[in-house]
Amino acid sequence: MTGPTQSSCCEDGAGPAPRLWTVDEHLADVLATVGPLPAIELQLLDAQGCRLDEDVVAAGDLPPFDNSSMDGYAVRTADTQGADGQYPSVLTVVGDIAAGAGELPKVGPGQAARIMTGAPVPPGAEAVAPVEWTDGGTGSGLAADSMTAPVAGEEVRVLRPVAEGAHIRRRGSDITAGAEVLEAGTVLGPAQLGLLAAIGRGAVKVRPRPRVVVLSTGSELVQPGEPIGPGQISDSNSFTLTAAARDAGAIAYRVGGVPDDASVLRAVLEDQLGRADLIVTSGGVSVGAYDVVKEALQQIEGGESYGGVDFRRLRMQPGKPQGFGRIGGVPLLALPGNPVSAYISFELFVRPVIRTMLGAPDVHRPVVRALCPVELRSPAGRRQFLRGRYADGVVHPVGGEGSHLVGALAKADCLIVVPEDVTSLAADSAVDVVLLTA
Ligand code: AMP
Ligand code: MG
Repeated sequence: MTGPTQSSCCEDGAGPAPRLWTVDEHLADVLATVGPLPAIELQLLDAQGCRLDEDVVAAGDLPPFDNSSMDGYAVRTADTQGADGQYPSVLTVVGDIAAGAGELPKVGPGQAARIMTGAPVPPGAEAVAPVEWTDGGTGSGLAADSMTAPVAGEEVRVLRPVAEGAHIRRRGSDITAGAEVLEAGTVLGPAQLGLLAAIGRGAVKVRPRPRVVVLSTGSELVQPGEPIGPGQISDSNSFTLTAAARDAGAIAYRVGGVPDDASVLRAVLEDQLGRADLIVTSGGVSVGAYDVVKEALQQIEGGESYGGVDFRRLRMQPGKPQGFGRIGGVPLLALPGNPVSAYISFELFVRPVIRTMLGAPDVHRPVVRALCPVELRSPAGRRQFLRGRYADGVVHPVGGEGSHLVGALAKADCLIVVPEDVTSLAADSAVDVVLLTA
C-alpha cells in the first residue's frame, strides 16, 4: 500500500492531523493489490457470464452429417423431374429414417425413404421432398399436411420436381472442423454456451466469477420480515451489497448481520475465509464506541503475518471512513454502515475490484458530462457524490445529502460528482455523472 500524497499535519501544535486520502488514491491503492483470478475449467452452465480464457476450435464439422431440414421423403432428383399433381412421380418407400437413426436404407432409382427433420440423408438420395410436396403415402395423390402414413413397401406420390440438395443441411455448412468458433475474452452468454455444447465441449477454461462474502455488522440489525424491537432496524446493506456484487459479475454470499462483538465477528470472518476471493463488510469502521470491525480485524488470529487491514479517512462524502487490506490472504474492504455510504463505496471501490478479478475490460462505471439545472452545494475538501437521475445530457438530484436516505437512493440511476475544490455550483453548470445502470 502506498501512502496518500495529500495529507495535513500538525495543526495548532496538537500533533499530526489524521491523514486524508483522495478517492483516486484509495482506489489506486486498492486496485494495485488485486488482479484477474487464475483461469479454471468450468462446466458449461457454471461458466455462464464468464470470460473465455482460451480460443475454442471445433473438433468436428457441424452439422456432423448431411441431414434433412424437413419432414418428408429422401429422393433422387431424376425421379421427380416433370412431376406435378396430374402426373406425380410414384416412388417405392424403402425405409423410415428418424432423427438419431444409425442404419440407413439405400435409396435406388424409383425409390424414396421417409425421413424426419434432423435425420441423416440416406445413401443414394440427393434431396428431400417435404411431406407437403407429396401425398404422404396416402395414395390419394393430394398434397399431405403430415407424416401419418407408413412406410416401407408402400408408395408415395411426389407432386413436384425436387432440386439437387433441396432441404438438406450439409455437413460442415455451419462450422467446419478446425475452425476457431470463439476467441479468448468472449463473454459466455446463452448462444455461446449452446455453441460450445453443439461442438461437444462440456467444459471450458474461463476466468471464474470472484466469490464475494458480504457481511454487515451492527447489534441493531434484524433480518427483514422479523419483528423489530426498540432501537432495531432491518439489515438492508447486506442485501444492497450482495445484489451489487452479483450485478458486478460476482458469486456473492450474503452473511446476515453480525452483532457488534469483536470475537463473534472474528469467528464469522475466519469461518468465511475459505470460500471467499473477496470479503466486504459494512458498518463498524468509524469512531463510535461499538465500531468493532476495526477492533476485530486488528486482532484477527495470526496477527500481522495473518494480514492487515488499514482504516483510513477519505476526502469524500458520503463514505469518509474506509477499511482495506487482507485477512488470511483474502482482500477485504470494510465499508461504512450508512446505507447510502455503503452503496456508493461499493460502486467506487468494490465494483472495480470485482471487475478486475473477472478480467473485464470495463472496470469502471461510465462517466458522462451533464447539465444540472439546480444549484448544488458541497463541503470544502471533499468529493461529493449526490444521487441523481440522468437523461439526455441532463441530471437532476434525487433526495438530499443524508447518507441514510435509502428511499431516494432507490430512485437514483446515477451519481453526481462535485469535486473537492468546489463548494457551490450555479444552476445549469456542467457536472460529471457516474451512470449506475450502464
Ligand atoms: P456504523 O457505520 O456501524 O456506525 O453505522 C452507521 C449507520 O448505518 C447506523 O445508523 C446504522 O444503524 C446504519 N447501518 C449500519 N449497518 C446497516 C445495515 N446493514 N443496514 C442498514 N443500516 C445499517
Ligand atoms: Mg454499527
